[in-house]
Amino acid sequence: MNKTLILLFLASLCYISCIDLKWAARAEDELPKQTALDKTYNYPGKVIIIGAGASGLAAAKVLEQNNIDYIILEATNRYGGRLKKDTTIADFPIDIGAEWIHSAPVVLNILKGKKGYYIDEELIPYKLKSTANWDGKKYTENPTWENNAMYSFMPESKFKNSTWYDFVNKNIAQTVTHKIKYNSPVSEIDHLGDKIMIKTQHGQSYKADKVLVTVSVGVLKSGLIKFTPELDIKKKKAIKDISFHPGFKVALKFSEKFYPDAINCKVKDGEKVFYDIAFGKDTKSNILGFLCTGNVSQNYYALISEEKIIHALIKELDMMFDGKASASYASEYLLENWGKHKFTRGTWTQAMQEKGSHLEMLNQPINNKIYFAGEINDPYKQMGVPGAILSGYYSVDKLLTN
Ligand SMILES: Cc1cc2nc3c(=O)[nH]c(=O)nc-3n(C[C@H](O)[C@H](O)[C@H](O)COP(=O)(O)OP(=O)(O)OC[C@H]3O[C@@H](n4cnc5c(N)ncnc54)[C@H](O)[C@@H]3O)c2cc1C
Repeated sequence: MNKTLILLFLASLCYISCIDLKWAARAEDELPKQTALDKTYNYPGKVIIIGAGASGLAAAKVLEQNNIDYIILEATNRYGGRLKKDTTIADFPIDIGAEWIHSAPVVLNILKGKKGYYIDEELIPYKLKSTANWDGKKYTENPTWENNAMYSFMPESKFKNSTWYDFVNKNIAQTVTHKIKYNSPVSEIDHLGDKIMIKTQHGQSYKADKVLVTVSVGVLKSGLIKFTPELDIKKKKAIKDISFHPGFKVALKFSEKFYPDAINCKVKDGEKVFYDIAFGKDTKSNILGFLCTGNVSQNYYALISEEKIIHALIKELDMMFDGKASASYASEYLLENWGKHKFTRGTWTQAMQEKGSHLEMLNQPINNKIYFAGEINDPYKQMGVPGAILSGYYSVDKLLTN
């Protein structure tokens, strides 16, 4: 069945039977009823969290709330990991990492520990009106029913005047930032003795009773962190087999909006999409996003410099829109190359596309001392930021209660 037939089938099924047919990550009943934020803990030992991304920050919030002794070792000079915002090129804040809320919006309450269904954040339903396909030669607009069917099956939203970075900063990070030790890239975790010994690339050493590792699966794949004793063979295989693709995100500024809400580009391996970042925002800025992940990214990496990548994107848009891109390009862009960041090494993972046994193996603690969290470790399979935060709550609960 081709894509059109599948969409037509789903649209008619939703319409005829009024079934609330939604992709699992969007379904409310997949979400936990309570998290570690709703519980109290009493743990006398010292905990070290590795990584101050959404997942590590969430776990830290639970430790802080329960007066448990802990620190966070973060490799870079900032917190947030794959959450990052920019305020320099538009009159609204731009998420240059995670951007969409793929889960049901009530997830925001669960993530910040608020009860009920009333959501404080102003959201934009991501119901696109104009979308198109581009195969490198031919540009085709999609019919309205297809856009509607897509939204019914995979509804998502975005923050109206805010970002994922702001949400996590305000609701999770603020109470724990004083415990972050920046520029502390962990290079070794030795759990042979009673205490766990941690070393950083800069020669600092720390001791802990329990450790929560929240680095991306890309960092685990790279071998940047040495485990003593070594990780067992099954865990190593799970880390090797889980996909974590290279990729990057771009924001381009234009003097006029000549493009539709989204253009899906046909690629052999990966995802490549142009989309209106300003969709639904209160703004006068015209900002077109470009998101690319998978092997298709290698074509751009081969161009070496950022300027050449931007030039290639404008040229491709000119082919679609008869030169309108170069005519209205405001010569301002952002480019965040997540695939090349030493402490990220990729874009995102998707639990739904991985083997359950690999996910279980990755999530399994070592000797009840070393625990793992992060987007791919989320038992509720929410993906992205909600997955990372829920996994932080889940794993810290196990760490404190086992
Ligand atoms: C371009 C892009 C677009 C995305 N879009 C969305 C989206 O629209 N919606 C969505 O929900 N999700 C999206 N995601 C995914 C989302 O950003 C991630 O799922 C989430 O931020 C992962 O959080 P984390 O804490 O698991 O990992 P990270 O954010 O990777 O955090 C890990 C932290 O560990 C640190 N670290 C790494 N190695 C070491 C070390 N050796 N020692 C100490 N610290 C270390 C890193 O510096 C980092 O701060 C996107 C991601 C990218 C890259």
